[in-house]
Amino acid sequence: MNRFGGVEAGGTKFVCAVGTYPDEPKVVSFSTTSPDSTLEEVIRFLQDASPDAIGVGSFGPLDLDPASATFGHITSTPKPGWQGFDLVGTISRALGVPVGIDTDVNAAALGEARWGAAQDVADFIYLTVGSGIGGGAVVDGRVVHGLVHPEMGHIPVPHDLARDPYPGRCPFHGDCLEGLASAPALEERWGMPPTELPAGHPAWELEAHYLALALASFVCTLSPRRIVMGGGVMRRKSLFPIVRKELQRVLNRYVRSDALLDGIDRYVVPPGLGDRAGVLGSLVLAEQAFRDREAKGSATRPMES
Ligand code: ZN
Repeated sequence: MNRFGGVEAGGTKFVCAVGTYPDEPKVVSFSTTSPDSTLEEVIRFLQDASPDAIGVGSFGPLDLDPASATFGHITSTPKPGWQGFDLVGTISRALGVPVGIDTDVNAAALGEARWGAAQDVADFIYLTVGSGIGGGAVVDGRVVHGLVHPEMGHIPVPHDLARDPYPGRCPFHGDCLEGLASAPALEERWGMPPTELPAGHPAWELEAHYLALALASFVCTLSPRRIVMGGGVMRRKSLFPIVRKELQRVLNRYVRSDALLDGIDRYVVPPGLGDRAGVLGSLVLAEQAFRDREAKGSATRPMES
C-alpha cells in the first residue's frame, strides 16, 4: 500500500495531509508566511510521514508546462516573496519522491471527481468563490490545462454601473468576475464581510447575478454536465437557489437540457467534500505523480532476454 502526501497551498494557509480518503487522512495546516519558513514546516510534516509521492494544489498563477525551465514555479502573484518561487523543486529536493502539481481549483476538481459531487460525470466544472474566484474544468475525465491553465475568475462580465456603481477590485481588470464578486469585493462594496451580510440583503441578488452570468458563459463554452461551487462565499447555502434561478433566466431556455430545467438542483451543487476538496484532491495528484513515475520507469527499463 503506497502512502501519499498532499499540500493545498493557499494565500493564507497551507493545508497538508498524509494518507487516503475515505480513511481519515492526517491533516494539519500552517499559516502562509514567507516561502522559506512556510515550506520548512510543510517539509518537516511530510518528512515525518515519509510518503511515496506528493501532490500540490497551489494558488497561482503557476507554470505547469513540464518542458519549461520554471515548471512548478509560482509566476505572477502579487503575494510578497512568492513571485517566482520554485514550489515543486523545493519539495522534491527535500523529499526525493515524485511531486505532482496543479492549480488549487484543479486539485479540488480532482477530489470532487474521485470522492465528491462529480463522481458520476466525466465533464464538469469546479468553481470556488472566496478571497478570489477560480475554476477548474474536467472534460472527458481529464483536467483542462491548455495554454497555461484556465482563469475562470477573471472573465469579463456585463457590469451595469447604474445598478452597481462599485468599480471592482481586480488589480489587473477592475470589474472582472473576481473584481466584482469575490469575498473582498463584497466586503468593500457593502461595508461588511459576506459572513455578516444578512439573508435578504440586496448583496445576494447582485452576487447571484454575477455568478450566474459567469456560469452561463461556462455552460455555453464547455457544456459541463455539472457545476460544483465551493469557497467561503458559497458556504451561504441560500445563495444556491438564487444562482440556479438566475442562471435559468440568463440562459433563457436556449441550451436545451433537462439538467438546466427540472434538474437544476442537481446541476449547480455544493462540493461533496466541503472545504476538504482541495487537500484531498492533492492526494489524487500525488497518486498520479507516483503512477507517472512508475510508467516512465517501466518504459525505460531494459527488456529482459
Ligand atoms: Zn481580473
